[in-house]
Amino acid sequence: MVLWRVVGGTSSGLVVREQLLLTSAAKEQRLQHGAVVEEVTLIGGRLQYRKRRGQGPDCGWVSLQLKGKRLLETLDQWPLFVPDDEEYWQRHLTSEVYEVMREKVTEPRNSGKYMNFYPERGHFRCAACETPLYSSQSKMKTHCGWAAFARCFIMDDRRQTSPGAAVGIEWIGDRPSVVAQVDWISGGREILCRHCGGHLGHVFMDGLALGGAVPERHCVNSLSLNYVEEALDLQELPCDLSTFHRQLREHSEDGSYSGVMDR
Ligand SMILES: [Zn+2]
Repeated sequence: MVLWRVVGGTSSGLVVREQLLLTSAAKEQRLQHGAVVEEVTLIGGRLQYRKRRGQGPDCGWVSLQLKGKRLLETLDQWPLFVPDDEEYWQRHLTSEVYEVMREKVTEPRNSGKYMNFYPERGHFRCAACETPLYSSQSKMKTHCGWAAFARCFIMDDRRQTSPGAAVGIEWIGDRPSVVAQVDWISGGREILCRHCGGHLGHVFMDGLALGGAVPERHCVNSLSLNYVEEALDLQELPCDLSTFHRQLREHSEDGSYSGVMDR
């Protein structure tokens, strides 16, 4: 799910089009600044939306830009915790965890402490910010050389009130704790912790072929995780691919990318 926020337009907001026809100019029929809408489809710079909050029509079409000026911007809901400077992470993390989680260095194959670790209970947390990411039950025996998981936890919204959580971002809908973005260097889908943006590894779609119950295989550096014995009763979801798909679409539209990225 991609969310957009209205940032431009006239003082009375954006004119909404219904079924390609300009139907209104009245203030109450415009999307007001700050309104948040959910993307239904995006065709040629025009967005069909469903409103999530704010003033204006519940659904319709709007343009993303007018004369080069941006009218809507994507509302990336991650990372939620952004330190003032990168030195925070250098102080907070060990050098080997920092290398993996902030510099995105992959730990050597068959070196991770959780690779062949299959506890019956408990869960795995982000090694940088302690967000619960994976249950022990979702761990896969893929023997791929790294720890692997089929599903991630839903974002534990109790954390939204914790110190360091971003303010001003309203909780909207079910959000997986792991998000994917394009890895333009090595290819594929890089996965990150939604709360802190820390690098976890990559997600591949070969889970079924490797004996799993779902297509996704989250291939995760053990250094990005901390195991704790506490059992958590949280819903489990596929990772959030909305940013990955938006990046591919935007780069396809501006011509900087034209291919299949499914490794
Ligand atoms: Zn984290």
